[in-house]
Amino acid sequence: MTDPKHSFRTRAIHVGNAIDPATGAVVPPIHLASTFRQPGAGEWGEFDYSRSGNPTRTHLQTTLASLDGAAGALAFSTGMAAIHCVTMMLSAGDHVVAGCDMYGGAYRLLRKICNRSGIEVTLVDLTDLAAVKAAMTPKTRLVWGETIGNPRMTILDLKSVADIAHAKGAIFGVDNTFGTPALVRPIEHGVDIVMHSATKYLGGHSDCLGGTLASATKELHDQLYYIQNATGAVLDPLSCHLVARGLKTLDLRVREQSSTALKLATWLESHSQIKTVLYPGLESHPQHALAAKTLDGGFGAMVTFELDGSIERTAKVCESTKLFHLAVSLGAVESLIEQPATMSHASYDAADRARFGISDGLIRLSVGLESFDDLQDDLATAIG
Ligand SMILES: *Cc1c(COP(=O)(O)O)cnc(C)c1O
Repeated sequence: MTDPKHSFRTRAIHVGNAIDPATGAVVPPIHLASTFRQPGAGEWGEFDYSRSGNPTRTHLQTTLASLDGAAGALAFSTGMAAIHCVTMMLSAGDHVVAGCDMYGGAYRLLRKICNRSGIEVTLVDLTDLAAVKAAMTPKTRLVWGETIGNPRMTILDLKSVADIAHAKGAIFGVDNTFGTPALVRPIEHGVDIVMHSATKYLGGHSDCLGGTLASATKELHDQLYYIQNATGAVLDPLSCHLVARGLKTLDLRVREQSSTALKLATWLESHSQIKTVLYPGLESHPQHALAAKTLDGGFGAMVTFELDGSIERTAKVCESTKLFHLAVSLGAVESLIEQPATMSHASYDAADRARFGISDGLIRLSVGLESFDDLQDDLATAIG
């Protein structure tokens, strides 16, 4: 049996992956059943209907709760479904303070969907604590940020933002997709709800969609479970299995990918054709010291840089790499390249893109598990 004192890597392999008592299988079977026979009319067994609970999902959620250091975790059909579940805790008239360096889909959900039901959203630079304080109103119920911002790689002072949110009675939720539980466990820093797009690092192989929420308290977990069960965006058993399998190598992958990313970022920064490199592991990054304190053993595997050149030139570089595939998404074993302004962040209003520094010249890399030398050659050839 596992001990809570076991290391992250050990828990990723053993927690939620108990031996199957029926067969001795070292990998838990995948339970596809949608419904479960009950002991009696009105008497309920542990599982009754798979939207409400499924053994394969429970296995995954047990692992996730352990890795996030949470009171409980939930697995959703996608990352957006997980964020949506958090926003469904809100009612008309409530106010949200959200970070401006934010995933395009989260921006769209908050600015173009939640506003339809009378929820007001203010976008602020969450690295500016005075601005966060100033944005809070008596109606603010949720502060939403990203541990490592997207695409500008800003780093949050989790403890300070949590204190500001809590002083006003608001919940602080973070999207830790870029950070991953291998590098940072936000609940340890006072965060209430941690979300991951499991489509990215947790799954890690670009072959399934998924999202997760982990809660600091059982009370919050129960509220989120109630909404998830009522609205139905649960993760299917096959995807639960793929995410659970991905988690077993998460720590190894993220550390190795982060180490390659740091080497690439350092090299890019010295390249004559490149104007700026945004990577928390570089000393030139505005929150480098905070990143070193917050992230444990790596600075993540996402690198953004700006070419000294036109939009056309930027697009051409993105289209010229051979190993880096031109695609949105991130966090998998294969490296990806994209242009945020026209791809991952196209759902931002143009004015907000300009305001928040998502310029046309930005290129975002998701560094995979290929060798550093091959990735460097690929980029060097494409940049020319
Ligand atoms: C991909 C992503 C999401 C959304 O997740 P899906 O699984 O695509 O719904 C949210 N936040 C971040 C930072 C992401 O990269």
